[in-house]
Amino acid sequence: MANKLTSRSTDYSKWYNELVVQADLAENSAVRGCMVIKPYGYAIWEKMQAQLDKRFKETGHQNAYFPLFVPKSLFEAEEKNAEGFAKECAVVTHYRLKTDPNDASKLIVDPEAKLEEELVVRPTSEAIIWNTYKGWIQSYRDLPIKINQWANVVRWEMRTRLFLRTAEFLWQEGHTAHETREEALFETKQMNDVYADFVENFMAIPVIQGKKTESERFAGAEETYCIEALMQDGKALQAGTSHFLGQNFAKAFDVKYASKEGKLEHVWATSWGVSTRLMGALIMTHSDDKGLVLPPKLAPNQVVIVPIYKGEEQLKQIAEKAHIIAQNLREAGISVKFDDRDTHKPGWKFAQYELQGVPVRLAIGPKDLEKGTVELARRDTLTKEFIKQDELVEKVKDLMVEIQDNLFNKALNYRNEHISKVEDFETFKKVLKEKGGFISAHWDGTAETEERIKELTKATIRCIPFDTENESGNCVLTGKPSNQRVLFAKAY
Ligand code: AMP
Repeated sequence: MANKLTSRSTDYSKWYNELVVQADLAENSAVRGCMVIKPYGYAIWEKMQAQLDKRFKETGHQNAYFPLFVPKSLFEAEEKNAEGFAKECAVVTHYRLKTDPNDASKLIVDPEAKLEEELVVRPTSEAIIWNTYKGWIQSYRDLPIKINQWANVVRWEMRTRLFLRTAEFLWQEGHTAHETREEALFETKQMNDVYADFVENFMAIPVIQGKKTESERFAGAEETYCIEALMQDGKALQAGTSHFLGQNFAKAFDVKYASKEGKLEHVWATSWGVSTRLMGALIMTHSDDKGLVLPPKLAPNQVVIVPIYKGEEQLKQIAEKAHIIAQNLREAGISVKFDDRDTHKPGWKFAQYELQGVPVRLAIGPKDLEKGTVELARRDTLTKEFIKQDELVEKVKDLMVEIQDNLFNKALNYRNEHISKVEDFETFKKVLKEKGGFISAHWDGTAETEERIKELTKATIRCIPFDTENESGNCVLTGKPSNQRVLFAKAY
């Protein structure tokens, strides 16, 4: 059986790493900072992908695919973007290895196979995509272009954590081209809304929508919108971003369209992405000391049935019943696994499914056969009850909704309890240290103050929430006037 997890209160980050590995979601690989996503983890990611993909298509986007490599000259074209990502770029310089003349068992880079132009492994795809769009866009009739790509990207991160920050990660990146500024801004906001809706309604994670300050903005963007979530340890996590790129990439790649009036105009752009970091958000929002807790809408198996039996004859009888139950549940649209393996004891299976966050566990033993019952255990509340077999489908159907709601409400309460309004810097530091969470405070709007607060406390401005009202006050550090509160937090 898997080892007991370190508790969250003992060491949150150890708990996280142990959970990811023991629940069979992912593991570290032979490549520094790169992970292996295991089948169970990948099944959850696929569910996220399917939902997001559906929502992208419903909002008029199509999928396409662009190369992994970006020629350096293209990468350089949009200066701010290039500069922002330069420090994290992996670069291909050669295209061939050869046998080492000094040691036939070794391979060396063939110096004769040096590329004329280095290739950057994409950390994001604006450059290669806008270079392509140049050939696609001549007139207003070619617009808008609304494309999404499912891909991997590489950012050579120095401090990595499974799912949260890896050197290679999986994501989707939307890249759209528009006639007007307004249309592009609408798209930027719309996709941020799509993310918020997905993360709240599907992942049961409450988020705050807002915009980033200039120093936290995507390199090359005029505005970055984001969704920010709060993890159980009081740290924030950027769960998704949507960028208004203005005409920066159109200018860098000379992408113009002839307007209806016959004038040549630069095209307006957006890009937006969520990554496998969402898996980290999922784990850190809902899980407990026994392991993962999955919202039903994301669970690869919503129900698992474990038979409790002695000997083959009993298993046969129980299996017959279990198959009928499983069939009835499936007909009601619920995914079910019947675990009749005789290689593991029921106690082991219980612990394993708890660890893997299966929302509902059913156990059927000989007594249940006599009485027409099953034992039902909820993963979110860890409660158990006996249910009549003929009432089971209705009960489980209701539970799927109830558990999903319960997880969201629990996370929402935690989040709301961890937004502290603060007026002075002493309290700011105290709240950050003792309670964590978001701090809603006035800020004088300068990058210097933002940086200074970061140096002093490690807290950054997570966002300027869309729904804050104008309110005059004084900057929490400098006392200078401010007309709006922003959200600070320590973040992943
Ligand atoms: P960006 O292109 O920087 O706006 O990032 C797009 C999405 O990918 C955001 O939701 C980020 O939180 C996420 N992300 C950025 N860097 C990483 C990383 N190293 N590992 C996993 N996700 C990341």
